[in-house]
Amino acid sequence: MKYTIPNNLVGMTPYKPIIGDFKIRMDANESYINIDDMNMILKELNRLELNRYPDPYAKKLCSAFAKYYGVDESLITASNGSDEMIALIFSTLFKSNNKVAVFENDFSMYEVYCNIYGINYTVLKKQDDLTIDVKKVSKEIENKNITALIFSNPCNPTSIGLKREDVLYLVKNTDALIILDEAYMDFWDNSVIDKVSDFDNLIILKTCSKAIGLAGIRLGFAIANEKITNLIRAIKSPYNVNVLTQKVGELVLSKKEMLKNACVEIIKNKNELQKMMNTLKEEFPNIILNVYNSKTNFIFIKTRYSKIIFENLLKNSIAIRYMGDYLRINTSNTYENEVLFNTMKEILKNL
Ligand SMILES: *Cc1c(COP(=O)(O)O)cnc(C)c1O
Repeated sequence: MKYTIPNNLVGMTPYKPIIGDFKIRMDANESYINIDDMNMILKELNRLELNRYPDPYAKKLCSAFAKYYGVDESLITASNGSDEMIALIFSTLFKSNNKVAVFENDFSMYEVYCNIYGINYTVLKKQDDLTIDVKKVSKEIENKNITALIFSNPCNPTSIGLKREDVLYLVKNTDALIILDEAYMDFWDNSVIDKVSDFDNLIILKTCSKAIGLAGIRLGFAIANEKITNLIRAIKSPYNVNVLTQKVGELVLSKKEMLKNACVEIIKNKNELQKMMNTLKEEFPNIILNVYNSKTNFIFIKTRYSKIIFENLLKNSIAIRYMGDYLRINTSNTYENEVLFNTMKEILKNL
């Protein structure tokens, strides 16, 4: 019989990041800090046996993660970025009569994977100010027969955080599976990772691509109670995380002080960037309509003329993320934040 592409995949296009050589990159929420002691890494890589398969459980790596975040290592599974873990969860854990919920204005990959795997899903609305009302959502989960909810906290792209007590309220008040993406929680102190073994309906996702500064090695984690962790380990491909990534991740996650200092510095610069954007809002209230209160490493802005601002910044070799009515700008160091601020001010003046 002739092969045809499944209906849900027809017309799909490859993911398109901003490509090009831009002097200043503030578009992908990565850390602007690279490892300064590369020799420490290289020395360890010398000893690796690349002819052997990696450890399927990434035991040393998970142990370093466990120590850094204060969670039991038996509750952790590593993956090639949290992206791979999201794909794995979405491709295996749901039955055809299940209904998955995502939020409007949340990480776009959730919907992409729902579409790729042909999952029946529904989009929940946030409040007008882009916050989440957990009582309302809790009722919606019941009324709409939702089997699982995935969301990011703090949220990409809104940068807004949902308090720990509200997250726990959601998890406690439903039997639906809650997949909680804490990609940016290193920048805010409201993680529920310490409670993960109390629940059989919670999976927490973490990534090394943001605060840990390792977007280039592709490393993420799922944290869940023992039963769910055993399931995830059983359904993943056995050797998913390669030898090099396991070793680099292990070494970097063991540098607790270095990582904590980097976080403090990133948050400080983010706060400076937030102030700069607030200043622009005061000066140009008809163009910058809202600057959201960020709990992440980036600032989310509602503007008129988003596209023009975005394109003019690109002309000045500054890449940020354009999202319709919104712009998302991740913090860089003091110097690059200043350059962005001054360039943006000029652009706004000339609009
Ligand atoms: C960046 C990001 C990820 C992806 O992380 P990787 O580990 O690089 O795949 C997942 N979730 C959210 C909300 C993100 O912003």
